[in-house]
Amino acid sequence: MRAETLAIHAGNLYPVSTQDVTPPINLSTTFLRNEEGGYSGGHMYSRISNPNRSALEKVITELEKGADACALSSGNTAGMTVFQALKPGSHIIAPDDMYWGLKMQLQTIFADTLQMDFVDLTDIDLVKQYIKPNTVMIWAETPSNPLLKITDIRALAEITRSNGLTLVCDSTFASPSLQNPITLGADLVMHSSTKYIGGHSDVLGGILITAKKDEFWNKIRNIQAVGGAVPAPFDCFLLLRSIKTLAYRMRGHCENGMALATYLVKHPAVEAVYYPGLPDHPGHETAKTQMTGFGGMLSILVKGGAAAARQIVNQVKLFAQATSLGGVESLIEHRASIEGPDTKTPQNLIRISVGLEHIDDLIADFEQALSTINR
Ligand SMILES: *Cc1c(COP(=O)(O)O)cnc(C)c1O
Repeated sequence: MRAETLAIHAGNLYPVSTQDVTPPINLSTTFLRNEEGGYSGGHMYSRISNPNRSALEKVITELEKGADACALSSGNTAGMTVFQALKPGSHIIAPDDMYWGLKMQLQTIFADTLQMDFVDLTDIDLVKQYIKPNTVMIWAETPSNPLLKITDIRALAEITRSNGLTLVCDSTFASPSLQNPITLGADLVMHSSTKYIGGHSDVLGGILITAKKDEFWNKIRNIQAVGGAVPAPFDCFLLLRSIKTLAYRMRGHCENGMALATYLVKHPAVEAVYYPGLPDHPGHETAKTQMTGFGGMLSILVKGGAAAARQIVNQVKLFAQATSLGGVESLIEHRASIEGPDTKTPQNLIRISVGLEHIDDLIADFEQALSTINR
C-alpha cells in the first residue's frame, strides 16, 4: 500500500467491542491478566506499551519503511534515548548546525560521558577525517536548521557501513512523507513529531524508527520502557489523527514553500533565500535524489541587518512570530535572537515555516511587510 493509504489504515490495530471506526483513546494504565497469568489483550502496563502508542509506532514504522518504531515524549527525548544507549566514552560525529536543543543536550548532559565533534556533514571528505577508533555514530540532520543544508544520506551511509558505525538521521524538516532515510542506508531515523507529524502546534512528541531490530534497538526499547519518558495515550491519539492527513498537508507545505521562495528570491529587499527547491541552492541536486518534495521551511537574509529583520517579523500579520515549525499556521522567527549571543546564525536571517494558508494571502502579507523597509 502507498503512504496515503497506510496513514489512514495502518493504525487501526486493535478490535474494539463497540466497533469504532476510529480507535478510541485508551486511558487505562494497567491491563487484565488471564487465568494462565498472561495478557491476552497484548498489553500489561501502559509505560511498557499501550494501544494508542502501539498504533502510532506501527503507522510510523510503515511510513518510514523500517522494522520498528519507538514513540517518546518529545523530539529531544528521542535524541536523549539514542545518546543514553551509547557506551560511555563513545565518540560521535554530529552536524555543526545541529538543532540547537540537541546540541545543547550533548554539550551539557552528555559532556562527561560522550566525546563529540560538530562537523559540516555536507563535506563528506571532512567527515572521514573525524573518524576515530572510538567513533560509533554519525548523527545527521537534513534538511538542516536554519540554513536548510542538505546532507547526502547515501554518501554518509557508505562511510558508516564501511566503518561499522551507526547512522542516525534527524528527518524532522522532511517528515516521513518527503524522505525515508532507511531506504537510503540510515540505521535509525528520528523525528520531532511536534512538527510536521503533529502538524497543528498542539502536541509534543518524538519518535525513533529502526532499520533492524538489533541489540542497539533493544537498548533503546529498554530505555523507553524502563526510563519511562513515554507519550500519553491522548498525545498518541492526536498524532495518529494528524498522520492521516500528513501526505496531503506536506503537498500544500511544499507548494506554498516553493511559491514563497520563488517570490522572495526576486524581491529587491531580500539578499538570499535558502530553500532546497531553488535550482541554485547548493543542496538542490542531492535533495532531488533523496526527497520527494522540498518542504515548507525556508530562511531568508534581508538587506538592512538585524533591524530590518526584526521589523519584518513584527510587520507581517499572517505569520505568527513564534518558534517551532511544521504547523498548518505560518510561523516566522528572527533566529539569532533566539539562539543567543554565541550564535553563528546571521543577524539578518529570518526563518519561515510556511503554513497552509492561501499562498496569495501569504505573499501579499510579505509584500506589505517588505515595503516598509527603507532601502
Ligand atoms: C524541534 C526539533 C527537535 C526537538 O524536538 P522537540 O519535540 O521540540 O523536543 C529536534 N530536531 C529538530 C530538527 C527539530 O526541529
